Parts: sequence; structure tokens; C-alpha cells
Amino acid sequence: MRAAVLTGINRPLQILDLEQESPKAGEVRVRVKAAGVCMSDWHIINGDWPLPLPMVLGHEAAGIVAECGPGVSGIAPGDHVIFSFRPHCGRCRYCSSGQTVLCIGHNDSPRWLMHDGTARVRLNGEPVNQMARIGTFAEEVVCPAEQVVKIRPDLPFTHAAIIGCSVATGIGAVIRHARVPAGSRVLVIGCGGVGLNIVQGARLAGASPIIACDLRDNKLDYARSFGATQTINGSSVDVVGRVREMTDGLGVDTAFDAIGSEATALQAVDATAPGGRAVLVGIPAFATRAPISPSQLVYGEKVISGTYYGSVRPNIDFPMLADLDMDKRIDLDSLISRTYRFEEINEGFRLMLDGAVARGVIVFE
Ligand SMILES: [Zn+2]
Ligand SMILES: [Zn+2]
Repeated sequence: MRAAVLTGINRPLQILDLEQESPKAGEVRVRVKAAGVCMSDWHIINGDWPLPLPMVLGHEAAGIVAECGPGVSGIAPGDHVIFSFRPHCGRCRYCSSGQTVLCIGHNDSPRWLMHDGTARVRLNGEPVNQMARIGTFAEEVVCPAEQVVKIRPDLPFTHAAIIGCSVATGIGAVIRHARVPAGSRVLVIGCGGVGLNIVQGARLAGASPIIACDLRDNKLDYARSFGATQTINGSSVDVVGRVREMTDGLGVDTAFDAIGSEATALQAVDATAPGGRAVLVGIPAFATRAPISPSQLVYGEKVISGTYYGSVRPNIDFPMLADLDMDKRIDLDSLISRTYRFEEINEGFRLMLDGAVARGVIVFE
């Protein structure tokens, strides 16, 4: 089984032949058909998130179930599935209350090994970690069955793959976390894979205006095609000042930060109108801190909230997003601006960092 392995910080991924064990109890083996290239993988490559290596990266993917371990129910070989990068034990306080993204049921085992604390892939006999217990830059993945969600078989695998991270995170942030009502004013900072999905989530919700901000004009062109009504190139103007000009001096009802830096988090808070909400979506480097103004929050009754994975419940929301796509209510085709062969994976990261693509997806033969 070939997989793309990170062996050291800031090194290119290496496609290596790994030994893979069969699924144990409660696990499945999935043949990967498509996998998206995401900024979160890059955070591990560049050391923003220091995690133990070697590791198979990749967490935004879809494929076909090939084998089920003992005790797996509700999933069978041949099913088309989307990977979820969060576990779902079904028993902890968060799973029980519907906040499955916050599941703590498996906190006693590392997030890069199976729930019994062992690895399913090895290189020369030594264990290799799997990002988020899945590691989907691989021809085949053995992972906990609770981390795959069955979806309709007519959904293209490239579309299914990106539902697993950027689409769920972006659209979920709008409709599941912030619950943006029709007609409300929205700002989206950062128009990469997640930001463009926040834009189309805001369009789906009926927000107006939808103001998109990025440092690159080609990203702003993308944003307009996904529903942005106004755009701001933050490299040349004062973002908060421009947003206020566009909103009667008040700011927006909901500002989304899809980047996750000190500067963009502060812009989101400052561009939010009194009574509004700044939503932090993009995952920052672990060391990032941002000096917010408590008096703004008090006098303006502003709320700051974070959303992880768009606060989605994958078992409910992945099939729902698949239906929205097949009904042409959201546009996943235009998001996928490039597909790559597995061997081109490092080129995929280079083009993502260059800002040349909305989303790049690796397609497996
Ligand atoms: Zn991702
Ligand atoms: Zn749980």
C-alpha cells in the first residue's frame, strides 16, 4: 500500500510502500478514491503543529469500503464513504448532546493511532502515525469505522472528498455554528478552500451583503463567483475601515476569520457591528495569541466564538451537503480548480501556497 509520508519538518512528502494490517474490531479498510490538499496538512509539514513523525498526512477524502473488521455495523464493503477527521464515540457528554466534533471519548489514545493505541501501518517494521487517525494520502486506509460516513453513490468522489473538510468547515460555520439569518451582513476574511465555502454558505443562508477579503485578486474573483457581493483586497486598503464604509459605519453582523492569524482575528472582531459576532474558523498555529479589546466586547455586546470543523455532525451533515451539491444548491465543481495524480502531491502543496487554486484534489486510479 503506497502512502505519502512526512518524515521530517519542512521536507517534501515521500510516497512510500507501507505494510498495512487488516482492520481490527470496530475498524474498516477503505480504498481511497480522492483526497483534497488542505492547509491543515501544511501546518504539520511546516511545524506549526508539532506532531510525532513519521506520519501519513491527509484528512479530506472519500473512497469505497473494502473490508470491515469484527463488530462493525451500518457500513459494508462497497459503500461509498467520506472520512471524518474527528472521532465519534457516541457515548461521551459531547456526542450525547450533539456536539460530536468535541468528542472526548477517545482522549486516552493519541490522535494519530487507533483507539487501542497501536498503528495499522508500518515502514520496515516501525509504526507510522496516521493524521487524525485516518491519514488519507494513501491508496488504502484502515481507521475506526466511526470516522467514515456513508454517502449516496452518485456523488462524484472529488466532491465527496472536499465535503470532508473544507466544505463542511466553511458551510457548517455559517449554517450550523453562526446560524446566519437571511438578510444579515457578513464579512469573510480569507478566500482559500474554507473561506470560499463560507462565502457560498452565506449565499445559501441568504446573507446580504457578503463582503469577501483576501490579499490576492484571483481569490477575490473566485469569491465573487461563489456569491460575494463586494470584495476588499486587504493588501492595499484598511480592511476594517472599508467594511464600515460598506455598512453604514456599523460593521457586519457576522465576521468570519478563515485564516487564523493574530491580524485577521483582530480584523474580524473590529469589523463586527455592536451586537454582532466574530467567528474564528481557520485553525491558527498553536503559538498564536491575539490582543482583543475587552471594552469593545462590553460596550458593543460583541461575541467572539470559535468553530471547529464548522460545528457539523458528520453523520447528518455530510449526506445533507451531498444532497445540496447534487441539487446544485452549492457549487463544488468550481471549487476543484485542479486535480493531481498521487505522484504530484508536492506540486499540489506548492500551488496551494501560491494561491493558484481554489482547491486541489488528488485522484487515485
Ligand atoms: Zn482540512
Ligand atoms: Zn464522544
